[in-house]
Amino acid sequence: MGAVKCIGILTSGGDAPGMNAAIRAVTRSAIYNGLQVKGIYRGYRGLVTGEIKEFKSQNVSNIIQQGGTILKTARCQEFMTPEGRKLAYENMKAENIDALVVIGGDGSLTGARIFAQEFDVPCIGLPGTIDNDLYGTDTTIGYDTALNTIIEAVDKIRDTATSHERLFFVEVMGRDAGFLALNGAIASGAEAAIIPEFSTEVDQLEEFIKNGFRKSKNSSIVIVAESEVTGGAMHYAERVKNEYPQYDVRVTILGHLQRGGSPTAHDRILASRLGAAAIDAIMEDQRNVMIGIENDEIVYIPFSKAIKNDKPIKRQLVSVLKELSI
Ligand code: ADP
Repeated sequence: MGAVKCIGILTSGGDAPGMNAAIRAVTRSAIYNGLQVKGIYRGYRGLVTGEIKEFKSQNVSNIIQQGGTILKTARCQEFMTPEGRKLAYENMKAENIDALVVIGGDGSLTGARIFAQEFDVPCIGLPGTIDNDLYGTDTTIGYDTALNTIIEAVDKIRDTATSHERLFFVEVMGRDAGFLALNGAIASGAEAAIIPEFSTEVDQLEEFIKNGFRKSKNSSIVIVAESEVTGGAMHYAERVKNEYPQYDVRVTILGHLQRGGSPTAHDRILASRLGAAAIDAIMEDQRNVMIGIENDEIVYIPFSKAIKNDKPIKRQLVSVLKELSI
């Protein structure tokens, strides 16, 4: 083992269900391995302002089932500047923190990568985002819970869609990734998904209308990924109103409810495995890697790969959705 005696842990960027399970796993695994743990509040902001507190095992009791993050999360502009990161480093040293575990999405891991380059600080990243858009891990912490929230909501929307014989556009999160929309559509039995990955290839609305809306059904649900690339659900509803005025269209934007709730078993286990693996990585003197799970095995992905590479959407999912929605 290297010189690491004390680790700092923070959650940053968009919150995701299962972040608490990850905080618990990192804390307990570190203590089990003889390391001291310090919780850093409000993401990088707490590192810049020195909002840091020692964590014992009981600080993470009774949180595995809770959504959100007990460490709070924030977006921190100061950390984007060299001066802000210098302050963060000085606070880290003042607290005797030797290594950082950062739980967050693409932006948070980009911050960790830059910080690690500037200050020679070992940083380990855990993929915490409902969007599932980090390369090198099959799923990210929070994605499965958000997917389950989506299908619960769509099941309810379907009741009213069927009764009124309407076309519903349901907008889900995902930033520039279509994982939530596409798998949410398959899991809820929706008729189509409109995702940013294919926006430049085809007119996804045309495809959907052409492929059979109203051929065998008198109501339909289309899941739309929120994204500047797709234009979101409102854009498609407007188009239908103009181009196909015979259809009765409604829009539901699921919004932030997708980020909340008790994490599913999948996310709790994922967060627990990744959290424990983060401490294994530190004990093995690994640095500047994101921990992922691929084909049920723990993998270490260099930050540069996890952040820069686009995670591809499997085309087979698109054909499954198309085949099953006739
Ligand atoms: P997410 O981690 O969910 O993708 P953000 O993109 O908002 O969320 O990033 C979270 C935080 O990570 C930012 O508020 C900032 O403090 C830090 N961060 C993001 N990008 C950078 C960067 N290029 N340099 C330094 N810090 C960054």
